[in-house]
Amino acid sequence: MACEREQFTKLIEQKNLRATEARCRILELLHETHEHYTPEEMLEALRERGKPLSIATLYQNLAKLADAGLIARIVGPDGHTRYDVNTLPHHHLVCKVCGRMLDVGVEGPLQDLRPVALYDDEEDPATWRLGEVHLEFHGVCPACQARLAEAAEASD
Ligand SMILES: [Zn+2]
Ligand SMILES: [Zn+2]
Repeated sequence: MACEREQFTKLIEQKNLRATEARCRILELLHETHEHYTPEEMLEALRERGKPLSIATLYQNLAKLADAGLIARIVGPDGHTRYDVNTLPHHHLVCKVCGRMLDVGVEGPLQDLRPVALYDDEEDPATWRLGEVHLEFHGVCPACQARLAEAAEASD
């Protein structure tokens, strides 16, 4: 089955891949939600949308799309592999409870941030040529806050 969304067909074909329905479903899900799903979460989300894929098809196509650079494979602090449709350098807000990741911008004088040595005998980070900055903020997402509050109430 071929992809019916022109936007995703173009993206996929630009990478010399066939724009199959499976690839289209994956890109559509990621582009529309901007979530950083694990493969398991993606299976569930696709099923909820009425656009399910088998696990084998999902894994195969995630690998193809990632190899083509259409999505980025990232490992969150929880050790789970997740897929990010934003392949440009950006920052993340990470839930310490469920591992959910959110793309964030940063307010404040980011251009003034500089890495500094943590240890006395460390080489001076100022001698490095700096590239882009990736910050990772850790916290608890609203859904987990609500679950934790409920659990606390239930245990009273
Ligand atoms: Zn959470
Ligand atoms: Zn991201």
